[in-house]
Amino acid sequence: MKNFDYDVVIIGGGPGGYVAAIRASQLGLKAAVIEKEKLGGVCLNVGCIPSKALIHQAERYQSLSDMEELGIVVDRKGFDYGKVFKKSRKAADTLSKGVSFLLKKNKVDLYNSLGTLTGRNEVSLASGEKITGRNIIIATGSRSREIPGFPFDEKYVLSSTGVLMQEKLPNKMLIIGAGAIGVEFAYIMSSFGVEVTLVEVMNRILPIEDEEIAALLTRSFRKKGIEVMTSTKALSMEVKNEQVSVVLEDEKGKQKALTVDQILVAVGRAPNSSGLGLESLNIKTEKGFIQVGDYYETNVPGIYAIGDVINTAQLAHVASKEGEIAVEHMAGLNPPKRLDPMNIPSAVYCEPQIASFGYSEWRAKMDSLEYEKASFPFRGAGKSVAVEQPEGMVKVLFDPKTKEILGAHCIGVNATELIHEILLAKTAELLPEDIATMVHAHPTLSEAVMESMRAAEGWAIHI
Ligand SMILES: Cc1cc2nc3c(=O)[nH]c(=O)nc-3n(C[C@H](O)[C@H](O)[C@H](O)COP(=O)(O)OP(=O)(O)OC[C@H]3O[C@@H](n4cnc5c(N)ncnc54)[C@H](O)[C@@H]3O)c2cc1C
Repeated sequence: MKNFDYDVVIIGGGPGGYVAAIRASQLGLKAAVIEKEKLGGVCLNVGCIPSKALIHQAERYQSLSDMEELGIVVDRKGFDYGKVFKKSRKAADTLSKGVSFLLKKNKVDLYNSLGTLTGRNEVSLASGEKITGRNIIIATGSRSREIPGFPFDEKYVLSSTGVLMQEKLPNKMLIIGAGAIGVEFAYIMSSFGVEVTLVEVMNRILPIEDEEIAALLTRSFRKKGIEVMTSTKALSMEVKNEQVSVVLEDEKGKQKALTVDQILVAVGRAPNSSGLGLESLNIKTEKGFIQVGDYYETNVPGIYAIGDVINTAQLAHVASKEGEIAVEHMAGLNPPKRLDPMNIPSAVYCEPQIASFGYSEWRAKMDSLEYEKASFPFRGAGKSVAVEQPEGMVKVLFDPKTKEILGAHCIGVNATELIHEILLAKTAELLPEDIATMVHAHPTLSEAVMESMRAAEGWAIHI
């Protein structure tokens, strides 16, 4: 049998790559990670973590207005966004260093370098050094996608990385794209007083979420002063006198001019698959995404690909789980062949928060799936009234005959935590009546989850 330096060599140290390496090591495999920038990838450095740190500060800043009702008036003159920025960088750096510690603890070797595939079992580093692995995992992630006419210069036209790395706020910002990233930045910017226009080419914001939930967020955003324009395209832009003039066009072809200080383009992410040496090994790609089969193995046996570089949901927890499945398979365990996309939670962390999994109403209709729905508003749960956050609801879709949970959608405070009780029930093949009859502590927001299940059973109490 051939000797290799490692059982598994992983290119990319994001949430896909570093989690795969640690899991491999736990299973007795000798693992190496090659990372050209900072450990933790997009998620820890310029994605999930710094954006959630900004959202946290935005919520604190917003809550100052509520204090006025208590007679406490806070002088905001000393507000310094530079300090908010620094806090977000501190969170990112702390967690990135934490990953370095975890790799050491698990005896994973780290190569701080660009890695390129130069053979079926070989990766070359920028230094010219070559390392070999019985298996290789490509976990190179993704980058912000550009749109024609709006090239990133990170001064006037920003990517999500650009907006996260700037220390000053603009007065006016146009955000193109109302997916999770666009919506989260609309919330952050608007909370800190930036005049925000949010433009989406589809007929609603958060197009992959349930329509009713997206409509509730639209209403909340408009109330907050965010201008939300759907079925609208950004056509062109021109920089003049330190400002950007943009032409927008709606579905009827009606044009509107807008002048802003900056534009954030948040229209999705492109896979990092070029320049990796895929062609030399005939590894198949489609639209830049690496194609994979069972256990996330490519068409070349022993070479796997996980995370944002493959065509699955571009989420950190998906990347990590795919990495775990790939290495568990290598180690001879029997993990699921693929993740079930219907059991993956997605979360949007603006205020109100949104979280969901499985079927939405539009998706059920598209698949001609018979379903029933039940919902419960947050205002029926004592806790949400006590903490003055009655905006929101829990909605569940279920099979009319078997009562199987098909999907769930939460909007409101703590929605991103609440969703997991319902997802656990679904994956454990429990039914609405199981949650409906389980005693939930009072007062909690989880009671809204319980009541939504009682609604599914036809006996919600507090509505
Ligand atoms: C603003 C923003 C907010 C987000 N918020 C969330 C959120 O709240 N929740 C969530 O689940 N997801 C969120 N995401 C998505 C999440 O960040 C990604 O899904 C996740 O980072 C993907 O992990 P990955 O390991 O596949 O790739 P990445 O995190 O992209 O990591 C890939 C790593 O590979 C390295 N690399 C690339 N090529 C090479 C090479 N040739 N050699 C060596 N190293 C290489 C890169 O430097 C990088 O560190 C957010 C993304 C953005 C942009």
